[in-house]
Amino acid sequence: MDHRRDGILRLEEMRGQLPDPARLARGPVVVVECVENIPCNPCVAACAKGAITIEGDINDTPSVDFEVCDGCVVCISACPGLSIFVVDASGEGDTGTVSLPYEFRPLPEVGETVTALDREGSAVGDARVTRVLSSKALDRTPIVTIEVPRSETMNVRHFTRKDAPR
Ligand code: SF4
Ligand code: SF4
Repeated sequence: MDHRRDGILRLEEMRGQLPDPARLARGPVVVVECVENIPCNPCVAACAKGAITIEGDINDTPSVDFEVCDGCVVCISACPGLSIFVVDASGEGDTGTVSLPYEFRPLPEVGETVTALDREGSAVGDARVTRVLSSKALDRTPIVTIEVPRSETMNVRHFTRKDAPR
């Protein structure tokens, strides 16, 4: 099964474009889950460090230099496809964080417990909101960071508030 059949992107379809375990262990890093050949490139301009590039024409998919990316999260809001995340699996405990685009209202509060969801929208478990970034500079795509089990940092890609209708 691949995403062209059911719209759900799977890790194995992104082989070769994800940060490897050694890079993940070093600190926060971007995960660009963009595999379609579409005319789009705001992610390239969003990264002032030049970590994201698109070779060839605008229909090609982006590539990331994971050694240049420092996980600053700025590019998350720039992606109209909501396809960019920043994962931090570098801590010493059993948890890590996922920073993701969140366009629902109301926004969650820092410290709130939410339900983490995987790419299929299935519940993974509870997660704690650790940061909410919302400003004019981010247009209408705030960035929310949630704390999840380290083993789930490459699986969790959304969340739902516990008091929100699913
Ligand atoms: S997280 Fe920051 S450094 Fe990394 S690709 Fe995005 S904008 Fe660039
Ligand atoms: S902005 Fe998002 S959808 Fe557009 S090319 Fe970059 S990652 Fe893909």
